Amino acid sequence: MIKLHDKHFKAFLSEAQIEAAVKNVAEKVAADYKDEVPIFVGVLNGAFMFVSDFLKHYPYDCEVSFVKLSSYQGLTSTGIVETLLDVSEDIEGRSVVILEDIIDTGRTLKELVHLFSNANVKEFKIASLFYKSDVYNGEYAIDYWGIEIPDKFIVGYGLDYKELGRNLKQVYQLNQKHMINLVLFGKPGAGKGTQAEFLKEKYNLKHISTGDLFRYNMKNDTDLGKLAKSYIDKGDLVPDEVTIKMLEDAVDKNPDASGFIFDGFPRTAAQANALDKFLAGKDMKVDATIALEAKDEILIQRLLERGKVSGRSDDQDEDKIRNRFDEYNEKTAPLKDYYEEQGKFHSVNGIGEIDEVTHRLGKVIEEL
Ligand code: AMP
Repeated sequence: MIKLHDKHFKAFLSEAQIEAAVKNVAEKVAADYKDEVPIFVGVLNGAFMFVSDFLKHYPYDCEVSFVKLSSYQGLTSTGIVETLLDVSEDIEGRSVVILEDIIDTGRTLKELVHLFSNANVKEFKIASLFYKSDVYNGEYAIDYWGIEIPDKFIVGYGLDYKELGRNLKQVYQLNQKHMINLVLFGKPGAGKGTQAEFLKEKYNLKHISTGDLFRYNMKNDTDLGKLAKSYIDKGDLVPDEVTIKMLEDAVDKNPDASGFIFDGFPRTAAQANALDKFLAGKDMKVDATIALEAKDEILIQRLLERGKVSGRSDDQDEDKIRNRFDEYNEKTAPLKDYYEEQGKFHSVNGIGEIDEVTHRLGKVIEEL
């Protein structure tokens, strides 16, 4: 697995596979053009490696030139194709073979054909190393191609993701399933919810707060809400089996998420075990547990302030708050050892400006 900018890519085609494909294209073209001197026109930037290796495998006389177009910006084709380097003029009556690194939708190809349409060439053919046959619009025949590939974003061997990756000898595929799953740990009032709001935007994660889910159910007076209320109002934990099931349902509702922030879950050893088991069944895992640390007295002040605004019954009474701390110390704090044994426990100072704390959390996440 490699990382370019913000994305992860996994190995897709080896050097040997690429070389065999390049050789194969060169041999097929050579068989058709051995009796004349074709002009090969490489399409920059992506095709430079292909053109170079293609020529090494091309045994007869030939000329080479380049054009430069641009249509990809990031991961998706913008549909806007610009001509940055035009074709030379002395190609009239000659056979031109375009050397492309990849044919996907066909938008770039259309522009290329347009570029050559007034050049009075004898023959115009298209050779591409990679060919996404599933998405190609089929407007022009692709005369030669090396490897048909599925519609996945690839980098390496000349192809880039935001200009990185062109120098890779192998080809890598975007790994859409690379997830980051975080557990935000910390006593009530430590800032888990606040920080989760920032982190979910920054890292494109789905935020699941079991506290929020309970409050939603209480507000809507569901059976789950009625059950949870009796515990929450006292500052006690809701029983594991109820909480675990609710959390699993919330994860299942987001099959396309690129990762989760679990906020307020797990809070007991049974929940931590259940989470590991549940995620493993989906080929997922907890990547890191980050605890936001702050002193009780500061937290009590924060919670009482919050209680005035939010109306949360469990934030308005110091005894209830202390009971929540006791629950944390007794049932949740021991999970530190559980995650530490797995090398997944990190601790961050939760005191300071919100963005300072976000920055501290970001440092941990980016090193994962
Ligand atoms: P929070 O908003 O995370 O502080 O949660 C508020 C209350 O919801 C807690 O005091 C518990 O009563 C209940 N709760 C939230 N998450 C859990 C959990 N993982 N296990 C048991 N109870 C929970």
